[in-house]
Amino acid sequence: MAYSYEAPVSQTLFDRASLVTPGGVNSPVRAFRAVGGTPRFMVSGTGPYLTDADGREYVDLVCSWGPMILGHAHPEVIAAVQEAVARGTSFGTPGEGEVALAEEIVARVEPVEQVRLVSSGTEATMSAIRLARGFTGRAKVVKFAGCYHGHVDALLAAAGSGVATFGLPDTPGVTGAQAGDTIVLPYNDLEAVRAAFAAQPGEIACVITEASPGNMGVVPPLDGFNAGLKEICAAEGALYISDEVMTGFRTSKAGWYGIDGVRPDLMTFGKVMGGGFPAAAFGGRADVMAHLAPVGPVYQAGTLSGNPVATAAGLAQLRLLDDAAYAKVDAVSAQLRSLVGEAFTKEGVAHTVSAASNMFSVFFTDEPVRDYEGAKKQEAFRFTAFFHSMLEQGVYLPPSAFESWFVSTAHDERALERVAAALPAAARAASEATA
Ligand code: PLP
Repeated sequence: MAYSYEAPVSQTLFDRASLVTPGGVNSPVRAFRAVGGTPRFMVSGTGPYLTDADGREYVDLVCSWGPMILGHAHPEVIAAVQEAVARGTSFGTPGEGEVALAEEIVARVEPVEQVRLVSSGTEATMSAIRLARGFTGRAKVVKFAGCYHGHVDALLAAAGSGVATFGLPDTPGVTGAQAGDTIVLPYNDLEAVRAAFAAQPGEIACVITEASPGNMGVVPPLDGFNAGLKEICAAEGALYISDEVMTGFRTSKAGWYGIDGVRPDLMTFGKVMGGGFPAAAFGGRADVMAHLAPVGPVYQAGTLSGNPVATAAGLAQLRLLDDAAYAKVDAVSAQLRSLVGEAFTKEGVAHTVSAASNMFSVFFTDEPVRDYEGAKKQEAFRFTAFFHSMLEQGVYLPPSAFESWFVSTAHDERALERVAAALPAAARAASEATA
């Protein structure tokens, strides 16, 4: 596909980056491989806008993959960071900021009786699984195809291929031993979960699921799915781990738990709770958390865990996220979803706008999508054309058809009007795209 616009400064930076960093990026999806073209190197963000190194401004519908729910450079978050950073950046000792952030999480998410702070969502899920194994004395882990829980070795057996089904690693570097205890099942299929427990009685430590998946596009749990998982786990002596790294403090004040009310044994958090800094957490039942060092035998640690600058940013952001803020994000999302749907309908493009609270994505199919297999059946090539037209017109979308779009309280009428103005041409580009 040819691109009619250029980004010479980003291109120069990307060339430099590619010499010193594999693929020129520090996280693969940033490289635009799924859509082609040159990734934009961003230099600043304000509210709903990002500005790239070529001086072009974009309405940002990625929000750093979720964290920036108040928009970029929110004055109160920035002030909290400046205040914290002036006192020093890391002490390697306990500090009040991490206590306050833990208290805020415990106050918001009722099943979390105790919480441990870490620095990334990957660390959170990795630690939660280790803890579940240590607590139950069992080895096996159930996960669902299409759910992403970070790049934890045991959780990368995921892509839904035949290899993944047999718990073999999806990526070189993960050994059979690391992935051999992972059972990958189709999402939204309780019968498959029951069958896995029946086939391996007393061996499954936990079921980990995205509270509402956003990593195969947005595919919410069917009614009763999460409750069914909880029930099966409780009956089988396994732990139910709800990964809320993406949904936590985004989909409601108490994340997805605030929506479905299904009580997990353990939960994982990241993204929004860090206010744009590396802060994440796992927590849940106090009797399970008591198995963690230094109280219990399951080891887990981190030099920068509970970092004072990150916790100050996270706390400032969470404290601003009241009912009115969620109502605003939900309203922005609803408005955008209807604009997007109308544009595709007008151009006769088969599509489904799939939403979970204020998270949403577009599948280029009119078949309902309920699992990864369904998500992969969409005409993803249409997304490529759509993406580049939007980018050219100053709207920054996730560079993949299998990612959630994210909005913020800062997306005002002006930003939405800019998206609305870009949509007709982009929908036309999607309709004219060929595989
Ligand atoms: N869990 C979920 C549901 C995620 O969406 C992600 C990241 O996108 C992770 C875990 C991993 O988090 P991190 O990228 O902070 O390691």
